Amino acid sequence: MSTFPLPPPHARRRFRRSLLAWYRANGRSLPWRTTDDPYHILVSEVMLQQTQVDRVLPKYLEWLTKYPSLRALADAPEDDVTATWRPLGYNIRPRRLHAIARESVSRFEGRLPSDEQTLLSFKGIGAYTAGAIRSFAFGQRAAILDTNVARVLFRVFIGRGDPKAHAMRRRLWATSEVLVPRKHVFDFNQGLMDLGALICTARKPQCPACPLSRMCSSYPWTPGDRA
Ligand code: SF4
Repeated sequence: MSTFPLPPPHARRRFRRSLLAWYRANGRSLPWRTTDDPYHILVSEVMLQQTQVDRVLPKYLEWLTKYPSLRALADAPEDDVTATWRPLGYNIRPRRLHAIARESVSRFEGRLPSDEQTLLSFKGIGAYTAGAIRSFAFGQRAAILDTNVARVLFRVFIGRGDPKAHAMRRRLWATSEVLVPRKHVFDFNQGLMDLGALICTARKPQCPACPLSRMCSSYPWTPGDRA
């Protein structure tokens, strides 16, 4: 049982409706949104962790051409994998992907499992990546919380406090979990990420164009506000 306030059911429904309608009209067309292959989802999520979409796009396609499966990635030498990754940076990421591929081959015949605990047992798969794989590849009702999503949820439902504090992260995770719908999980989570990337941006959110403005506790967000 959580010890902090969570959005009441009517606010959850309103949030879901508004976000899904906006995403269906405005969501970006991206290659990892036309697949439910867990490996492709994993690659896109790891690449997107610290890199903008326009830089990820060509590398994502190149990567999957060179390593079309977890088994192909596992078989590649590590030097080759890190060289292919360039110039994305943060070289821990290709090594992490490589290690996950090798673990998937040794434990699951080159496949990724769908249940949360087994995904989290992989070195290199954390709560966010597990939620992304479960919701995008397997259609499960799984929450996500990356920087963009945390910013949206903080501004809409909380508005005050330190969004980076440990207790706040727990509250934001719990908020994401109660919001995620039973149906249309894929569109809902992709919509959350797009809204954070396109409308509720860190520095200059476009509050007048935001589908959540009428329920947002931070509206209108001003540069002096936190998060
Ligand atoms: S109204 Fe502004 S601050 Fe609130 S969610 Fe929308 S863009 Fe973000």
